[in-house]
Amino acid sequence: RAKSTGHNMYFVYENNMAENIDAHLTLGGGLRKAIEEEQFVLHYQPKIRLCDEEVVGAEALIRWVHPELGMISPDQFIPLAEESGLILPLGEWVIRRACRQLKEWRESGVAPIKMSVNLSSRQFMQADLVDMVERVLQETGVEPEYFELELTESMLMADAQQSIDKLHGFRKLGLTLSIDDFGTGYSSLAYLKKFPIQTLKIDRSFINDLGLDSDNDAIVKATIAMAKSLNLKVIAEGVETRSQFDLLDGYGCQEVQGYLFSKPLCGEDFLRYMSSQNVVTFA
Ligand code: C2E
Ligand code: MG
Ligand code: MG
Ligand code: MG
Repeated sequence: RAKSTGHNMYFVYENNMAENIDAHLTLGGGLRKAIEEEQFVLHYQPKIRLCDEEVVGAEALIRWVHPELGMISPDQFIPLAEESGLILPLGEWVIRRACRQLKEWRESGVAPIKMSVNLSSRQFMQADLVDMVERVLQETGVEPEYFELELTESMLMADAQQSIDKLHGFRKLGLTLSIDDFGTGYSSLAYLKKFPIQTLKIDRSFINDLGLDSDNDAIVKATIAMAKSLNLKVIAEGVETRSQFDLLDGYGCQEVQGYLFSKPLCGEDFLRYMSSQNVVTFA
């Protein structure tokens, strides 16, 4: 970078802006074709039960394997897919792929675990979403109790009454519902009680600061206590260190997910990870 005179700063800014706009157009334009050609993969991050450190679940996380740009993270293209409406076919692909993967793992003989899939706002607003999920579960032969949807507070709060109805629709199918990134949105405690959800997933930002900021720790501790008294399961995302793990353990958190255990893995690596972790011991 050139010296940061006011003039140069201006150009640096403009260049970045142009690059961003360019990337936006390129990615957005390629998305439809990418869906047709299935240029996507799912990676799976293990969810670990705190008490015995067993793998009890997996979160499916999408990546775009772009022919020229390589691996693109969901934060870069999910918003584009939302804008264009392409999130609807893409979202259905994710659910089907994740269910098939779960079935494949089961067939290879590992202990049953739960698969979680993220939804985005536009998908959540889709009128026939519950029917679509039911259809895919039937088609792939996945029992609904092994399937979970992750939703965010803002999605649920956009139209709270309609959300409650939709969540009840999912509950009738027998699957479980989780609030993702909990603590970053604006859902009120009054609504938390009304939403038929089973799991709270504490946002990574709170976990990141654990042990570094006593106010933050107090929030995490209180969130876990509140979840427990509402009979919700609590999971912490973004757990990277043993000391974060130990604090969460002390607060009564039930599950963790994060780099301390594993990054998101491709299907094959996940299977290897599971086989190496869930060691069968004989008494
Ligand atoms: P999320 O659902 O909150 O997923 C957690 C993100 O944190 C993932 O990023 C994961 O790789 C990352 N992560 C996990 N453990 C750690 C850790 O210990 N440290 C750090 N620094 N990061 C960690 P990823 O895969 O890039 O996904 C980003 C977001 O994109 C997701 O956030 C989710 O909102 C969205 N997303 C991913 N896949 C899908 C999908 O299939 N459909 C929809 N609608 N959204 C998706
Ligand atoms: Mg998630
Ligand atoms: Mg999250
Ligand atoms: Mg997140």
